[in-house]
Order: sequence, then structure tokens, then C-alpha cells
Amino acid sequence: MKLILLIIIVYLVYRAAKSWVVRNLQAPDQNGSRHPSIDDVMVKDPVCGIYFPQREGVALKHGGQTLLFCSASCRDRFLEEPKQE
Ligand SMILES: [Zn+2]
Repeated sequence: MKLILLIIIVYLVYRAAKSWVVRNLQAPDQNGSRHPSIDDVMVKDPVCGIYFPQREGVALKHGGQTLLFCSASCRDRFLEEPKQE
């Protein structure tokens, strides 16, 4: 009798595990249309050094290139004390 109970429990656990695996395998398909785009590119702030999403950056045209800062205050700091290289 105990053996039958054990078999039933093992069978139920096996079925639960199988449906869990199937759910996890199917999950990526539901979000398959969402791929990382240019909007999700992370860029580094040259002033404070943190990384932030490019679309949220504050742009500044400087010396023929466009620099991106995490905030306007970092942009202002860059303008106040430009990096000497
Ligand atoms: Zn910054």
C-alpha cells in the first residue's frame, strides 16, 4: 500500500515538473517579438562614469562628435571643466 502511494506521489511530481518545464520552454516564444533595439543600448557617461540607456541621455555636440550624458548636470559639469587629454 505504501509503495502504491509512493508511485502516485512520484507520478504527480513528475507531471508537475513536466508541465513546469513545458511552460518555461514556451515562455520565450511569448516575448519573442521583443528584441533589444537601439533604444536599449547602454552608453557610459564620460563625467560620472555610470551606464544609462542611450535614449535617456542628454546629448551635447562637442568637437565634431556627439557626447551623451546621464543628466543635464553632468553635461554642465563637462562644459565647466572639459577633460584635457
Ligand atoms: Zn552622469
